[in-house]
Amino acid sequence: MKLKSILTVFLLLTLWHGYAQQKNKTENIVLITLDGFRWQEVFNGADSSFFKQQATLKDPKLKEKYWREDAAERRKVLLPFLWTTIATQGQIYGNRALGNNVNVTNNQLFSYPGYNEILTGSADNERIHSNDKIYNPNTNVLEFINKQPGYKGKVAAFSSWDVFPYIINDKRSGVYVSTDVAEVKSANLSESEKMMNKLILKLPNPLGDVRLDAFTFYYGMEYMKKNKPKVIYFAFDETDDFAHGGEYAAYLNSANYTDKFFSELWTYLQSEPQYKNKTTIIITSDHGRGDNAEDWKHHGQKIAVANQLWFAFLGPDTPALGEVKTSETLYQNQVASTLASLLGMEYKTDKKVGDVIQSVTKK
Ligand SMILES: [Zn+2]
Repeated sequence: MKLKSILTVFLLLTLWHGYAQQKNKTENIVLITLDGFRWQEVFNGADSSFFKQQATLKDPKLKEKYWREDAAERRKVLLPFLWTTIATQGQIYGNRALGNNVNVTNNQLFSYPGYNEILTGSADNERIHSNDKIYNPNTNVLEFINKQPGYKGKVAAFSSWDVFPYIINDKRSGVYVSTDVAEVKSANLSESEKMMNKLILKLPNPLGDVRLDAFTFYYGMEYMKKNKPKVIYFAFDETDDFAHGGEYAAYLNSANYTDKFFSELWTYLQSEPQYKNKTTIIITSDHGRGDNAEDWKHHGQKIAVANQLWFAFLGPDTPALGEVKTSETLYQNQVASTLASLLGMEYKTDKKVGDVIQSVTKK
């Protein structure tokens, strides 16, 4: 037993050094998810046939803000950072109109199973089939990285949805997960944290127990500035909540200001020596949704097309392919191994899956 564990450690070190000697420039990763945000809006922008039916939060400027006759203009006005910076310097996968598919492999098509697949690198339909607050029995890539030399305590997650401590299994994994709708406690609060602490329990929150994405993002940014994590995960939630409520305006507005978070994040990363030209951003979603004026509100096993996803990459090891047009199909279960590979690590899951890294790093 002792011999085996020493050998295992040796093997891991060897692999790590072996991979680290490869040419990857990535030393930090930012993983971002927008819960249930559809590939249809990513590639086509707003769908005007959904404009009339939002239940609440009417937005009189919806059309003015997000409708353009030209689809390329329309998607750019909704997601300007994605369709300027990432489209010219990074990679965007999942435009099914061009034959480029990204799919989930789990058969549940809702949140916990999707995040489990993203983070652990394989679907687990037998054990992960509800959104209940149950500690995930599967180990995940954040946990794996947190155990690598030089990475302990340098992996963190900021989530809006309060199930993430269970999905990531913070008790077992040791990964720091921030999720509460509560004031942040710290001996050295920044001015921004002090202001957010004043607001977080006083602003009306239509999402109830779910933290508004702006708090998740800006608390996470303050954490980055103080603690300089090497891997940070931002899990945004509003798009899914607003979609379930049929609130298309709020869904689009949330996606639009989340895109502004990407821009702010990228500006910060490129201003900070630890991160500049050494950080890869990976953006995706946990599941898709239906594709007509009623079904777009829903997902799950009754909505077969909710298995359809998208990926975006921006960083020093992902050549500027822009919107990918090849007919290759990529899968949600490849995110974990890709994330680790970018850092020069080999993450192995329970089940054998392909490695998207060969696709995203090839010239
Ligand atoms: Zn979801």
